[in-house]
Amino acid sequence: MLQFATTSNPDAEHHAVDIEEFHKLGAWLASAYTDIWQHFQVEQLGSGSLSFLLTWRGSQQQLRPVLFISHTDVVPVTAETLQDWRHPPFSGAVADGAVWGRGAQDVKVGVVSLLEAALALLRQGFQPARSLLFAFGHDEEVGGNLGAVHIAELLASRGVQLEMIVDEGIGLALAGVAPFTKQPVALVGTAEKQVQTVQVTVQSPGGHSSKPPIDGSTVGGQMGRLMAAVSAQPPPTKLVPPTCEFMIAMADLAPAWLSLMLLAVKHVPFAGRLLAKMVSMASEEAAAVSGSVTINFRLLPGDTPQTALQLTRGWLGRTLLLPISA
Ligand SMILES: [Zn+2]
Repeated sequence: MLQFATTSNPDAEHHAVDIEEFHKLGAWLASAYTDIWQHFQVEQLGSGSLSFLLTWRGSQQQLRPVLFISHTDVVPVTAETLQDWRHPPFSGAVADGAVWGRGAQDVKVGVVSLLEAALALLRQGFQPARSLLFAFGHDEEVGGNLGAVHIAELLASRGVQLEMIVDEGIGLALAGVAPFTKQPVALVGTAEKQVQTVQVTVQSPGGHSSKPPIDGSTVGGQMGRLMAAVSAQPPPTKLVPPTCEFMIAMADLAPAWLSLMLLAVKHVPFAGRLLAKMVSMASEEAAAVSGSVTINFRLLPGDTPQTALQLTRGWLGRTLLLPISA
């Protein structure tokens, strides 16, 4: 599985950087799991027919099916990080007591584990009462619009109501979860943050960047005030289910002072807000956000794209705290 370079990209046809690699992976699955391909209904769908929906028909059709989700695509390996790989990213090397490759954890292991489990059950003569569905999208890493969305639409068109969905999950935090414990924790994900991108466009009154205003209400000035406001008034920290339940469950493992506080979350309204604040300060992940700015230039005759890049680098050099990579 790991030797197929099934990288997804939002700008590529079917979101597949190399369609042939996806075809090879599909052919390999069919040849490695012939029993499953014979016994299950196998549908190839989505853009380019690169995604899979497998159906193990249950004996009781009135029961709602269970859906297991995974995906066959992986995020790209950038040229500058190639040297950091102890074994090449698409080698599938089995060495040093591990299996190496891009997607080993996220999440070709999921596809293979589901198929291995199904195959083992099939060989034992197991017959599920409710139908079991397996959905393997091919563009999860870039949003799933050309894979998982097509699978969802197909299921909706058939009127399928699911009993449960089991997705890829989080994993094992071997070094614990700060600030609660340094003991290993198995994390079961029951919810996920939604990604939302808000694009803000500020136009000069003339409505065209070739005619900038001369009264001081520059686009740059207004964008600058917006950025300052984002920085000065970040979104409020808050604890929501199932995070509260998770933290309360961690009380037994946490140091005594924190344990008391975790238990207080249940009963004292203010404790939840204080704890949320502490967690956002203790963990970079809790405060994760990224931003991007698009600057729309009008180049004079004689200017080159390099002119705009140089100007931008100059501004970045004077304002950013982080090193500039591009
Ligand atoms: Zn994944």
